[in-house]
Amino acid sequence: MTAEHVHSARPVIGMRHAAQHMLSRAVDLVLPPVCAACREPVVGSGGLCAHCWAKLSFITRPYCERLGTPFAHDPGPGVLSVQAIADPPAYRRARAAVRYDEIARALVHALKYGDRLDLAPLLGRWMSEAGRELLADADGLIPVPLHWRRLWTRRFNQAALLAQTISHRSGVPLLNGALRRVRATAQQVGLAKSERARNVQAAFRVAEQGIIMIRGKRIVLIDDVLTSGATADTCARILLRGGALSVDALVFASVTDATN
Ligand SMILES: [Zn+2]
Repeated sequence: MTAEHVHSARPVIGMRHAAQHMLSRAVDLVLPPVCAACREPVVGSGGLCAHCWAKLSFITRPYCERLGTPFAHDPGPGVLSVQAIADPPAYRRARAAVRYDEIARALVHALKYGDRLDLAPLLGRWMSEAGRELLADADGLIPVPLHWRRLWTRRFNQAALLAQTISHRSGVPLLNGALRRVRATAQQVGLAKSERARNVQAAFRVAEQGIIMIRGKRIVLIDDVLTSGATADTCARILLRGGALSVDALVFASVTDATN
């Protein structure tokens, strides 16, 4: 092949690349969005396919008014779960939109690591509905903060994204920066309850500018998942010690078995 051939071939290759690029862009635009849980194409912009949507387990009453954990049988109004009485958390009430099952885990994972930031408004909407009572008498929302090092690698805090949506919908202001994570904690999944509690001890503190923000305020903590409740419990303790009037916890998904 002569130099001339190479030269004359170049624009053709370039055009072919450009055409392929345009084609792939066109395919991107034409392809329907995929389900956040099973990655099947979905019609519309619901985030989930009909199959996964049907499997999603929304938490509805009857549930413990304190912990938000669903009851298998309705014990009557105002009855608390055994756990709420035996081992009450520092937070006043907890509410979750869905049970933490396979579908919920996939949604949280997609939001957290999969760059499906488009899920935040959807999950935030479900949370706003699940937490309507909490939001009705709240003064401020505080997302459970990430340690700056984790924020650095992940680029965003999923709890803050959810809190933003909930703030927009409910009109309850975000108290950004009121709570700080001063120590990175290891992953909570797979740890025993006592280990988790130790894990989050001393990981949070009220920021200097946060003291005025939280004093006398009814706070709703926002997080993606409530596992043992240790993180929410620790945050609530610290906020109450810092002068908050009350602290509730609102999460997308809760690890919960039906109790009575
Ligand atoms: Zn699906």
